[in-house]
Amino acid sequence: MSTIYDRGAPGRRAVALPPLAQPEEQVLSGIPAGLRRQGAPRLPAVSQPELVRHYTALSRMNYGVDTGFYPLGSCTMKHNPKLHEDLARHPGLADLHPLLPDEECQGALALLWEMGECLKGIAGMPGITLQPAAGAHGELTGMLLIKKWLEDHGELGARTKILLPDSAHGTNPASAAMVGFSVVSLPSDRRGLVDLAALRGALGPDVAGIMLTVPNTLGLFEEDILTITSLVHDAGGLCYFDGANLNAYVGRARPGDMGADVFHINLHKTFSTPHGGGGPGAGPVTVSEALLPYLPVPEVVREGGEFKLAWDRPKSIGRVHPYFGNVLVIAKALAYILTLGDDGLREVSAGAVLAANYLKAKLAGPYKLPYDRLAKHEFVLSGEGLDGVRTLDIAKRLMDYGFHPPTVYFPLIVREALMIEPTETEPRETLDAFAAAMLAIAREAREQPELLHDAPHTTPVRRLDEARAVREPRLKLDLGDR
Ligand SMILES: *Cc1c(COP(=O)(O)O)cnc(C)c1O
Repeated sequence: MSTIYDRGAPGRRAVALPPLAQPEEQVLSGIPAGLRRQGAPRLPAVSQPELVRHYTALSRMNYGVDTGFYPLGSCTMKHNPKLHEDLARHPGLADLHPLLPDEECQGALALLWEMGECLKGIAGMPGITLQPAAGAHGELTGMLLIKKWLEDHGELGARTKILLPDSAHGTNPASAAMVGFSVVSLPSDRRGLVDLAALRGALGPDVAGIMLTVPNTLGLFEEDILTITSLVHDAGGLCYFDGANLNAYVGRARPGDMGADVFHINLHKTFSTPHGGGGPGAGPVTVSEALLPYLPVPEVVREGGEFKLAWDRPKSIGRVHPYFGNVLVIAKALAYILTLGDDGLREVSAGAVLAANYLKAKLAGPYKLPYDRLAKHEFVLSGEGLDGVRTLDIAKRLMDYGFHPPTVYFPLIVREALMIEPTETEPRETLDAFAAAMLAIAREAREQPELLHDAPHTTPVRRLDEARAVREPRLKLDLGDR
């Protein structure tokens, strides 16, 4: 594959710059000698058509939700209404200076306040912070809140353990450990749900709480969730719910009614707003009565008709994000909530669950389905049933059929896992086409496994030697004399 440096020739330009308004010497005199370049930067010398074609060609190699089906389990890669992008670019929002006094940014504060009210209602919980910039950041914030609660109750030294089902999302143990808790893994039972006997055995005076991924990473809802949260509360611990995938039950069930003390929501999965490559997202955290005093500052409050930032929270864990969080992401998500309303949000969860179960029914059989239960927003197959090929081969072959592969090798409790999340925004034809490709691949695996071993065959970059790429990374382009 060529780089922009492989194009062009000395002297070519993509743009014509106007002459300097002042003599060069005069411009330079303002820059200390030690900071001046000794030579011209080594920029590519290309004409405008060369430049445009190069980047257009690169963009065509990209795959995203705007190009095709993107069934990444747990990531919820769904369509994002374009109207929300226009809205987030509105100068009244996009150009606001973050240090404006409260009275000069009433609109933005009202928007944040309203979003807080909506999410508290959706979660069924009395407190919220909109600051965290992502799901994992919400988890970290939640763990800090639990730690502060323990400290305030004189239990920090005694309660050091966080219980984590082995079906939890991978960021959960990392977040608990970063805050200084030790992580105790709880096994899943044959249903793929928390093993209650193991939970009872693990509970004790050293347990700070539990972190439950809801639904868990098998796409299953914890049927004993009320028992789980009361067992933990009876033992003196708190309950954290990872609600990154709230699209599975938004409008239908509220964590506050199920015993959650902390709950984070990925706005960038449930309430539209695009994401990928780690951001930009938003991971608001709602809390129960017990944790209200520790929420991050500043808090957006309404007093009479006025909105303001409240700093007077002596027990707060402090800030977790500069200014107010990712406000434009929050604005897009609020637009989504207000556009759909209660009924629309209930349709979102119905659609997500229906699409997942529809695909699951089409693929189970030719593919092994280790936990054959009603799925929520996603389901997990195993590539183990197909002799002679691995899940990686199936994923790579899907690219030849024009589909982004699903999440693979996660969750860890399913060998050769394929974690598929269709989302509610795909039409039935797309689901059928994906199922047809998956079924064709299962046939190929039996009849011509070598076709899968060498896949992908049609992409700009063929299969990489991933082990070698890690051991001998080449991260720098050698420009030589160019
Ligand atoms: C995506 C996800 C996270 C992490 O969210 P980020 O915004 O990527 O940090 C955490 N838990 C679950 C269940 C997720 O699906």
